[in-house]
Amino acid sequence: MVDRSKVVYPFYQGQGRSALGALYLFLGIGVTPALAEQSQGDSSASRDTYVSERVNMVRTQIEARGVRDAATLAAMSAVPRHEFVSLEWQSSAYSDGPLPIGEGQTISQPYVVALMTERLGLRPGEKVLEIGTGSGYQAAVLAEVEVRVFTIEIFESLAREAEERLRRLGYGAISVRHGDGYLGWPDEAPFDAIIVTAAPDAIPQPLIDQLRAGGRMIIPVGPEGAVQELILLRKDTDGSIRTESVSPVRFVPLLRDGTP
Ligand code: SAH
Repeated sequence: MVDRSKVVYPFYQGQGRSALGALYLFLGIGVTPALAEQSQGDSSASRDTYVSERVNMVRTQIEARGVRDAATLAAMSAVPRHEFVSLEWQSSAYSDGPLPIGEGQTISQPYVVALMTERLGLRPGEKVLEIGTGSGYQAAVLAEVEVRVFTIEIFESLAREAEERLRRLGYGAISVRHGDGYLGWPDEAPFDAIIVTAAPDAIPQPLIDQLRAGGRMIIPVGPEGAVQELILLRKDTDGSIRTESVSPVRFVPLLRDGTP
């Protein structure tokens, strides 16, 4: 069982209402047009609706599964996930799974985003490379934990949309690039941490090379369409590599330039 008394997290204080469970179940097709209309108007009522859903998402999907890092929980509570999907998916934005974002790609399940963020053990000001910008959601979560984010996306359309979205939502400090992330971002290396949100068959050597001594990488590894292994890799100060298996996961494949 989850021991909530140990969680020091101011955002939750005074908000422990079981009625949120009912709100969570209320997510459904029937409410889509109303939510879509409200969010376009950006009224305070729509913001309130999504704040409740977000608090509930963090509590029931993330905290309940063991994510405890206060900065990660605060980031997941702060980023408006509904802004990272198209209107037709907004009413499902806080549900417990991935969602389509175009080009056959997906925004990852909230729990997986939180787990990967927490396990990187980030400190404010660190330099982080993300491979697989997608919607830009994971990048925004990273920005909320106050690291410097560089992110690469192989589909030009997704890279452009994510960059615009991030700027509009106040995450303009994130550097977005269109390209093949397999090769990393040599001009900005070394990185304190690297997060890969698409699965290769094996850990790309260029990414290991671009990790500074003491750096961490989190990456799903395994075949397309099968269960993959989420791996946490550490590069020690002497340059040696240690890996640890974190969890079974399912990610879209890491593509190579020319594949799409
Ligand atoms: N992190 C994203 C979701 C990732 S889905 C989010 O928060 O929304 C995986 C993404 O990786 C997809 O957008 C896919 O196009 C991208 N991708 C796949 N192979 C890639 C590569 N070699 N370089 C960069 N991006 C890649």
